[in-house]
Amino acid sequence: TTDEDIRFSFSILKELAQPILKALSDRMPMPDVKPGYIKDLLPTEAPQYPEEWKTIFGDLEKVVMSTNTNWHHPHFFAYFPTACSYPSIMADILSGGLSSIGFTWKSGPAMTELEMATLDWLVSALDLPEHFKNSHSGPGCGIIQSTASDATLVAIMAARARAVENVKREPSPFLNWVTQSEVGQVVGSTIKKILARVTQNSEEEKDDGIIVPHFHDPTVFEKFIAYCSDQAHSSVEKDVMLCGVKLRKLKSVLEPKLNNYTVTAQVLEKAIKEDRARGLIPFVFVASMGSTNTCGVDFLTEVGPVCNREGIWLHVDAAYAGSYLLCDEYRYMSEGVEMADSFNYNAHKAMLVNFDCSPMWFKDGRQATRYFTVDPLYLKHEHDATDYRHLQIALGRRFRSLKIWFTLRSLGIKAIQAHLRGLNERAVLFASLIESDGDFDLFCPHHLGLVCFKLVKGGNAATEALLAAVNVDNRIHIVPASVHGTFFLRLAVCTPNTNDDDIRFAFSVLKELAQPILKSL
Ligand code: PLP
Repeated sequence: TTDEDIRFSFSILKELAQPILKALSDRMPMPDVKPGYIKDLLPTEAPQYPEEWKTIFGDLEKVVMSTNTNWHHPHFFAYFPTACSYPSIMADILSGGLSSIGFTWKSGPAMTELEMATLDWLVSALDLPEHFKNSHSGPGCGIIQSTASDATLVAIMAARARAVENVKREPSPFLNWVTQSEVGQVVGSTIKKILARVTQNSEEEKDDGIIVPHFHDPTVFEKFIAYCSDQAHSSVEKDVMLCGVKLRKLKSVLEPKLNNYTVTAQVLEKAIKEDRARGLIPFVFVASMGSTNTCGVDFLTEVGPVCNREGIWLHVDAAYAGSYLLCDEYRYMSEGVEMADSFNYNAHKAMLVNFDCSPMWFKDGRQATRYFTVDPLYLKHEHDATDYRHLQIALGRRFRSLKIWFTLRSLGIKAIQAHLRGLNERAVLFASLIESDGDFDLFCPHHLGLVCFKLVKGGNAATEALLAAVNVDNRIHIVPASVHGTFFLRLAVCTPNTNDDDIRFAFSVLKELAQPILKSL
């Protein structure tokens, strides 16, 4: 196969893709349906006897395609991207075909080992610390969670359990079970052995069947306080709520590097001091790398040393921005990541791997496994190998590493880097259109594929009116955000289907819709 053949193959694919992409663009980014629409399209009861596949598939257009939000429309600019690529779709189809659930090594050797290997690939590709690797001799490890919300919940629960132990100064049954030399001095692939050699992490089961986990102490939880930026994603608040502890959202400030919103060391230190003085126990800080509102970054070189010094678990939520670490030029965001206890990002946002795929790494996986381990007879097996069930909430797990493996191999890192740079370039173009127009202002400088902007005149009310007009007009789809009382609009470049003309189109729609609002001021 010559280079010429490769170009020829690519041109064929490109040609064949055109009608499909056109069909996508011919739809609207948002469907024209109202809540409850489906009751007019579906019978109220499931069929007793099989229907023709042709009929079922034929209904797809009516029931799904024409009524769903079109996330891959070139004029869809809301939220953050949800990734889609051919190799990733193929992997999901195959995963469905394999229909396996790899909760233990024995229940899915390929599912377990491909996950371990591909997460190590990602550690190198994203330039994350070597100690996160499954193949590293230390206790670090990586797992694919479903979502960033799940990953943060797991991190907070592990941090909470670690903190209870610290408070009670009681060794857990697990620590008794693992020899002191394994805990103190990590030899070989200890974490992998620990993932394999499990123990009941709860107190002895009483006669009445009641089990109380040794790290579960509501009297201590009452004093626990978690931290995040006031810019952190709502999932952090939800996760903390589910953990039954307090949350303090720290006031973010504009930092000079990106001119974006961040938590400084000073703000974090002050909060820790104040909270300790009132009898609370700070135990976790969830840093945002690429906040949802403005794509701000809590720089780890700022907050990392404070967390490490104060014994506070540092979890990094890099849901959106993490994919960009594939490119050298964005690695200013991960400086200091070696101080993180856990790190997570969504490959299903910007890395062309379909939902769901949320790689997560622990500096010391023992800390999570020792709290999430239950060991019924039917899950035990004879192998000394990783059982991923100990690092997640559910027992069952999908074969998500297959889509990382397919996507990285089929596209190659270079193509994914080009894709990420492309998202950024579209954002740069949109930001330049906003900046050079007298009617609009950037709310803060664009970062990665996100541009935050507002109308110059008319305050929040005018920009809110513009959003309302955009929603009625329906040619483009964007969502708003608000930081410290200022309402603004976010344009996130979400799909590789969006080209420069689409960006100019989005700007022209906004400009057109802004005119009556500005005139009415
Ligand atoms: N964290 C950040 C910064 C996000 O932007 C998002 C979603 O956009 C999430 C967490 C939640 O992601 P998930 O849907 O994977 O839970």
